[in-house]
Amino acid sequence: MKNNIEEFLDLVKQRNGHEPEFLQAVEEVAETVIPYIVEHDIYYGKNILLRMVEPERVVTFRVCWVDDSGEIQVNRGYRIQMNSAIGPYKGGLRFHPTVNMSILKFLAFEQVFKNSLTTLPMGGGKGGSDFDPKGKSDNEIMRFCHSFMSELFRHIGHNTDIPAGDIGVGAREIGFLFGMYKKISNGFTGVLTGKGMSWGGSLIRPEATGYGNVYFAQKMLETKGDSFENKKVVISGSGNVAQYAAEKVIQLGGKVLTLSDSSGYIYDKDGIDTDKLAFVMQLKNEKRGRISEYLETYPNAEFVKGKTPWEVKCDIALPCATQNELNKADAKALLSNGCICVSEGANMPSTKEAIAEFHKAKILFAPGKASNAGGVATSGLEMTQNSLRFNWTRDEVDEKLKDIMSNIHDSCIKFGKDEDGYIDYVKGANIAGFVKVADAMLAQGVV
Ligand code: GLU
Repeated sequence: MKNNIEEFLDLVKQRNGHEPEFLQAVEEVAETVIPYIVEHDIYYGKNILLRMVEPERVVTFRVCWVDDSGEIQVNRGYRIQMNSAIGPYKGGLRFHPTVNMSILKFLAFEQVFKNSLTTLPMGGGKGGSDFDPKGKSDNEIMRFCHSFMSELFRHIGHNTDIPAGDIGVGAREIGFLFGMYKKISNGFTGVLTGKGMSWGGSLIRPEATGYGNVYFAQKMLETKGDSFENKKVVISGSGNVAQYAAEKVIQLGGKVLTLSDSSGYIYDKDGIDTDKLAFVMQLKNEKRGRISEYLETYPNAEFVKGKTPWEVKCDIALPCATQNELNKADAKALLSNGCICVSEGANMPSTKEAIAEFHKAKILFAPGKASNAGGVATSGLEMTQNSLRFNWTRDEVDEKLKDIMSNIHDSCIKFGKDEDGYIDYVKGANIAGFVKVADAMLAQGVV
């Protein structure tokens, strides 16, 4: 019987010992969900979590492409189809040199819970490649994407598996991927989300993860009668999630002090305002430059090389870069500087030890699977619009996004409020996400 946390984790470790990120994600879920299973007869003894940690299907494939110098390059492509109990597999594609099975399985596992929390009918999946888009020409990106899709297409479909973007996969890549899918399937379907506005995309989808994260943090702050007004906000990352988190923070009256990339962070003590953010968006999205170039236009800012921004004094921290970017020492630095709220825009950016520090200090802490769910939720809204062959307005999508984030917040309170009134959002998100998927799995029998 795998209803004991240690026994369960031992078994998962035996099978996946070489996958540290995946084990980390499973451990975090097991610690909160197993006690809940033990207390509830309908889940007890059914090995549901053991079934959930085993992907329904994993595909790996060869991706060959020719670079601009004429040399043949070989990368590895993946798609993890984790769980389809409540809907077709749904989740992004990541193109980054660190991509491997452990990272994609952790992301796919998180996605199952996250998608369940959105209240929309989406199962969980994730995919990608160890391809590094950095420094590649548009033509190289196109050839890679076309080659990648020439294999992936046979495993996906608008009712089967609907990929989207993630790190290294934005509007440009989704365009190339969609072009090849459409050509070889001979069908114009909503098989990918994050599409361009003129060919089936949804308004607010580009903004959704960042906006959603800030809406979620706003809900958390409201539980303390607080808001973003005049708050000092530290943000990591400078990609899609960080950019739109910053935009929403500015709109809500907060002061954004930092942004970062893998080479370090910029600290602008005067605040990154709308104009400066427009500069960053152009720098990152069009010029594909480095965040340090901010200083060439705004010399009053500082660039701190090779470091993450958690040492900067702030009220609110929004980790929007990547997994495990905030460790125990960072958490302690944030707490000693008076930080009251951490809301994750990335997937699993805080280590287990960092989360333990936040919980010990009883500050507001939201795990990514709750607070960054706005991206995939709006992907779900894009799928709905594609099925309806109809587009909602910007305000309509934004309202639905706000409602979804508020519902996720309610679910976290329902399952995560401790006896002393503290809201453990990790516990709340894990249990709420689990219950919906588990109920569907029980109803569908052992398959
Ligand atoms: N990659 C995003 C995530 O981590 C979005 C996935 C999607 O839209 O399918 O949730």
